[in-house]
Amino acid sequence: MSVDYAKEVDSILRDLGISETEFIAGTLSVSTPLTGEQIAKVAMSNDSQFRVATEAARDAFDSWRLLPAPRRGELVRLLGNELRAEKAALARLLSIEVGKIPSESLGEIQEMIDVCDFAVGLSRQLYGLAMPSERPQHRIVEQWHPIGPIAVISAFNFPAAVWSWNAAVALVTGNPVVWKPSEKAPLTALAVSAIAKRACEKFGQDAPHGLLGLLIGKADAGEFLANSGSYPVVSATGSTEMGRSVGRQVADRFGRAILELGGNNASIVTATADLELALRAVVFAAVGTTGQRCTTLRRLFVHSRIYDSFIDKLKTAFGSVTVGDPLQDGALIGPLIDQHAYHQAQDVLTQLGASDAIVHGGERVQVNSESSFYMRPAIVEMAEQSEQVLRETFAPILYVLRYDKIDEALALNNAAPQGLSSSIFSTDVREIETFLSACGSDCGIANVNMGTSGAEIGGAFGGEKQTGGGRECGSDAWKSYMRRQTNSINYGNELPLAQGVSFEL
Ligand code: NAD
Repeated sequence: MSVDYAKEVDSILRDLGISETEFIAGTLSVSTPLTGEQIAKVAMSNDSQFRVATEAARDAFDSWRLLPAPRRGELVRLLGNELRAEKAALARLLSIEVGKIPSESLGEIQEMIDVCDFAVGLSRQLYGLAMPSERPQHRIVEQWHPIGPIAVISAFNFPAAVWSWNAAVALVTGNPVVWKPSEKAPLTALAVSAIAKRACEKFGQDAPHGLLGLLIGKADAGEFLANSGSYPVVSATGSTEMGRSVGRQVADRFGRAILELGGNNASIVTATADLELALRAVVFAAVGTTGQRCTTLRRLFVHSRIYDSFIDKLKTAFGSVTVGDPLQDGALIGPLIDQHAYHQAQDVLTQLGASDAIVHGGERVQVNSESSFYMRPAIVEMAEQSEQVLRETFAPILYVLRYDKIDEALALNNAAPQGLSSSIFSTDVREIETFLSACGSDCGIANVNMGTSGAEIGGAFGGEKQTGGGRECGSDAWKSYMRRQTNSINYGNELPLAQGVSFEL
């Protein structure tokens, strides 16, 4: 029995109070990857709307920055509550728009709620340091001030959470936000923005018009934000190619870019690992979200002593995982986002199949229609890391290599140009600590006895090298959304100069 996803989307958006002019007759056609059918035609923002949203954000900054931070936190608390109330509808829309299985969509909305809770607490903890002065009757402190409108450019695969990682923290730190979501996921953005508007209405007139802007568009809308001097901070999530372009544009005007780009994540399974635990973790990290997470496990290094038995179990697990429409048959692996993603994956598998590599799985699975693209997850046994392995292919393809010495595995881990997530499975404290040490994994995330995906919001999220170097969410990532000011204060009657300099008039 086929489900009418277009009708369902229409009803979810109307229930959220979104005007049909925004999603019925626009020029941006949106399809569900579940069936490939068109589900909406979204109105795109034009150049004049880019400028209007930017001016409104600048105006909003003038008043928002003056509101005490804990009061700003109250808006984020209300936002969390509105998200709680709409969790089911929002998750359903997200599943239809990008094809995630229900529990992952619910998990993504839960992550938004969690980051709101985190940011509410943070609104009372925007601490600066006090430093001892070398001069008598002086003190030095640093304070953190709001910086200005934050531009957020987001990718299709986390169409809701990435906005909240930025917006919740940006709001409590005193900044308006203008969001340019992926053109592949504008409906979730419309829904999230409608929910945020409700929170602003409940908050009252202290939430200025223009505090949370939304621009629907393609790369040109992102380029506008990257180039506009009105955005001191641009947080951009997406491919390394996109980040290279945005990073240059923002640097050219001396703005600050928070770049959250492609990953090519690896796990090491050592000879002492708990293999049952490792197997479950590896399978989820490699095939969950159909291999379309920035933290998806793409490279696996297995110790020679356990290689054959582990790979056999892995092949069985990959072969048994269900592929299908997750909203109709409860499958664990849904579709790829579109035809382009499918062809990219197949091209890689074809190239490697013609080489010495051994390819297991990866076939297309016919589900719903010719215009939807489902595939079995693939394992590719490799003798070395070829150029295909060192590139991020956004699909469920896991490259597996064997190793003998931990240093060899570490070198393989660090050979990728990207540096987002990594993990080790081991019960040997020396191996674990080496992996976590200064000469261990070079990634922004290094886990022990767990997979590479599924980070919690409490830590700072992001990676090194071609992943862009940005950090978002927890820990002290909030500092990227503020400007630091150092204050030296003289409360005496003398004017001693620093470094003992004498300058008598
Ligand atoms: P993408 O780069 O195609 O698009 C991302 C966003 O950038 C979209 O909103 C797009 O319109 C915009 N964009 C594209 N080119 C631009 C340009 N030149 N200037 C300004 N904006 C531009 O990425 P995608 O296919 O949507 O997402 C998948 C990629 O995102 C993968 O590489 C994945 O690893 C990465 N990703 C990274 C993280 C992270 O936190 N590190 C999180 C999610 C996704």
